[in-house]
Amino acid sequence: MRYHQAVHDVPLLMEGCDSVEQGDDLNVRDLLPDELVRSSLKLPDLPEREVVKHFVNLSQMNFGVDNGLYPLGSCTMKYNPKVCDEIVWWETVAGLHPLQDTGTTQGALALMHGLEQMLCEIGGVDAVTLQPAAGAHGEYTGMHIVRAHHESTGEDRNEVILPDTAHGTNPASAAMVGYDVLDLPSKDGCVDVEALKATISDDTAAFMLTNPNTLGLFEKDVTEIARIVHESGALLYYDGANLNAIMGKTSPGAMDFDIVHFNPHKTFATPHGGGGPGAGPVGVKAFLEEYLPVPRIVKKDGVYRLDHDRPKSIGKVRAFYGNFGVLVRAYAYILMLGGDGLERASEGAVLNSNYLKEKLKGIFDMPYGDLRKHEFVLSGKPLRQKGLRTTDFAKRLLDYGFHAPTIYFPLIVDEALMIEPTETETKDTLDAFVEACRMIMAEDPEILKGAPYNTARRRIDEAKAARDMILSWNAYEKKMADGAGSR
Ligand SMILES: *Cc1c(COP(=O)(O)O)cnc(C)c1O
Repeated sequence: MRYHQAVHDVPLLMEGCDSVEQGDDLNVRDLLPDELVRSSLKLPDLPEREVVKHFVNLSQMNFGVDNGLYPLGSCTMKYNPKVCDEIVWWETVAGLHPLQDTGTTQGALALMHGLEQMLCEIGGVDAVTLQPAAGAHGEYTGMHIVRAHHESTGEDRNEVILPDTAHGTNPASAAMVGYDVLDLPSKDGCVDVEALKATISDDTAAFMLTNPNTLGLFEKDVTEIARIVHESGALLYYDGANLNAIMGKTSPGAMDFDIVHFNPHKTFATPHGGGGPGAGPVGVKAFLEEYLPVPRIVKKDGVYRLDHDRPKSIGKVRAFYGNFGVLVRAYAYILMLGGDGLERASEGAVLNSNYLKEKLKGIFDMPYGDLRKHEFVLSGKPLRQKGLRTTDFAKRLLDYGFHAPTIYFPLIVDEALMIEPTETETKDTLDAFVEACRMIMAEDPEILKGAPYNTARRRIDEAKAARDMILSWNAYEKKMADGAGSR
């Protein structure tokens, strides 16, 4: 096997240092009121060299988009050009403070205003807010806009409908805004138009849809769906977390959606994973603009200012103006590619996806139709005959130097394997992935059951890792004091 992950013994920074700084000699102390000063800051006292070694060693025990194919469906783990990261460290970007007077931040406001306009064009919408901090947060903001709209027209609508292929954040966001969520069963992997007609009513506030949906299928009846939703007085919400399939080809606005959120950290060059930071700009058609969060960036007589005077606004959804660093990356990426470049990116994503699908569909089952957009979903059902599950196959891929695809989602596919190669991978890489899949399927099932072998950590308890997170030194100390934890 060609791939071996590095294994380093990396103590926690607090364990690796000789002394812990109490913060006494930090020169900011004199500037702060006594009640805001903590007696123990507990900062590890280490030379820069030790800190760099710590983080570089940790990074070598991990797998990321920069080491190889990361075909995590729905997540668009594509390569992010490094120039977009570099710009964010410029003093004129990183050195800004959100409380600066707008007279000193015209450049930043021009950038955000420009990005709003670019997203309007890409999304086919009339106005965009950059404030939400992630895709799910954009959905949440969008659902508040739905609520504000129906309140202003005096309608009492308390249901949100979504198809059973929806991303898990969709029902969660609708429920958090107080809506009852109705799950619509799909037909042949797409929205069942007759079922939608039967479900929609005067109680429906919105229908949330991802198109292409999470199976990678384009919802062919989208025009009919939009008509049905609007005739019933409901709004149509587009989950635009992954725009990678459609940029420059069509847009949510052209498909008659009223509200859309974007994920710059998937489509527009911000590295992601591990919880952020991301962003979740929300775009709307003109009739919903008055509900967008405050402040709005407005330009008058060549000067940008922040307008808080929006009586119908849903208010603020986040401190200040959003995750600025993510917005700067998106702006740089979109300018760099231009309209033609974005269109080519989408063409490449769809081509790579269909190429890989053709090569893999003989190895696995492939339910629901054929032509896919930027991603496709296979079924690992053939593994069952060998006493294996999709997760065993996914773990074994790591031993071949490939990150695993998304597994067990969408829920309507048995033993699902959701693969999104993205446009940034070469044909050689895709061919090597196919070869690895073929070799793994020919291996002794017992080998797969024990995988992975060549990674820094072997098979981990995923439920524990997700439920029992210890993310700070304080939390770790508390856990040890409670006697329950172990590293
Ligand atoms: C990633 C994703 C989301 C949620 O975005 P976050 O930024 O992770 O909150 C929503 N819908 C779809 C289809 C996604 O892929």
